[in-house]
Amino acid sequence: MNKNLSTILLGLLAYAVNLAAAERPNILVILCDDLGYADVGFNGAKDITTPHLDTLAKNGTIFTSAYVCHPFCGPSRMGFVSGRYPHNYGGQYNLPNGGKGMAQYNKEGIPVSETLISTVLQDAGYHTGLLGKWHMGLEPQFHPNARGFDDFYGFLGGGHMYFPEKYVPIYERQSKSGKGEINEYVVPLQRNGTEVKETEYLTDALSREASRFVTESAATKKPFFLYLAYNAPHTPLEAKAEDLAKFASIQDPKRRTYAAMVYAVDRGVGQIVKTLKSTGTLDNTLIVFFSDNGGQLGDGANNAPLKGGKGDCFEGGYRVPMFFHWPKVVPAGQKFEHPVSSLDFYPTFTQLAGASIPSGKQLDGKDIWADFLAQRSPHQGQMIYALRHRDGFNNVGARQDQWKLSLSGRNGQWALFDLNADIAEEHDVSGQHAQRVKDMVSKTEQWSRTCVEPKWFDSQQAAEKWKETGMPHYDETFRLK
Ligand code: CA
Repeated sequence: MNKNLSTILLGLLAYAVNLAAAERPNILVILCDDLGYADVGFNGAKDITTPHLDTLAKNGTIFTSAYVCHPFCGPSRMGFVSGRYPHNYGGQYNLPNGGKGMAQYNKEGIPVSETLISTVLQDAGYHTGLLGKWHMGLEPQFHPNARGFDDFYGFLGGGHMYFPEKYVPIYERQSKSGKGEINEYVVPLQRNGTEVKETEYLTDALSREASRFVTESAATKKPFFLYLAYNAPHTPLEAKAEDLAKFASIQDPKRRTYAAMVYAVDRGVGQIVKTLKSTGTLDNTLIVFFSDNGGQLGDGANNAPLKGGKGDCFEGGYRVPMFFHWPKVVPAGQKFEHPVSSLDFYPTFTQLAGASIPSGKQLDGKDIWADFLAQRSPHQGQMIYALRHRDGFNNVGARQDQWKLSLSGRNGQWALFDLNADIAEEHDVSGQHAQRVKDMVSKTEQWSRTCVEPKWFDSQQAAEKWKETGMPHYDETFRLK
């Protein structure tokens, strides 16, 4: 080949590669823990103020029918990072608290056979970080650094105290119990496997670390994927005095503290946006904000107008506040009302990053990007499931277009709601739609047959009940009464 021509071709190739790299967005996922559907300004909160989140939501698109795949923490997070219903690999219970002496279950975690979205993006050249709550395994093979995250700052368990004065360093833990086992909520934070001495209120510490991560990422010249997993406003309800002072007019002390905790997240998001701007990365960053499940009723949260809360297969359990923000790409000032699932993020992020799905990887969601931009339903006619095991029975939710199939309580009956007319699931219309109910129950049953036995339980009692009551009881669950 002519030397000049090959130089030109190489130049063009380099240009194309650079162009592709330049177009790959940073992806910032901001996850709240147990945040209620109505507990942010952009979704109607009047007593909780979230100005920074509201600005992002207003300059982006708000999703009104965004679902996570489980109504509580661990399984919901596993679904997000693996792109699969955790029921398909035995992850439908929370991993137990590492300090409760359930060694056999604390050895478990999200199976290493599942390639996580973090690994996919890391392999595609992204700088990857997890800040905050993990809750997907304590053993070294499950550690975030072993699961596709270059950078980890946070805690491995399912929850945490907010004030560092309460954290108990390892030498004290060992002298107390002799084994180092203690409630994981007081285990100090760690950076990439090493315990550190944190001095700030937890939410502030995570926001600080997010700004640090964004700044460091800008220096690497790589696009970044940051999974910022705040544990707020999950219990314990603990807020800073200065944040509480802003909500003195709220009478209910739990709601007041909860509001202050959400406000602290918002303050932090404001700080992170500032860093994104100062590093010149905001314009090429997709920000996804959502909650891992519905708000915990009785602990300050509000899921109005949705029915139920955390733990339920009613809408309030797993339909969550969510927005996308990406200047000039994500439409501003819009609402997207078609149902989407947190299981869709895996394939969607993979496509946006120009990465590839590992061969043989099973996924339950789909790349929603084109449908999202076109304001079309990505799941027309498809089912989005929620299945929660209880002691001897199951709660079920299934969404198909505007329809919601629901089974609640012990000895419950299948009910059908038209969410377009009845978002609060108050008027059961199953009597008028017998064939639809039959079809939806049958589809949900077929899906349930792909679920496997739980690999762990959140408590000894749950494990015993599972055996004692002969779970999972799918025959009884899906028998039309
Ligand atoms: Ca949660």
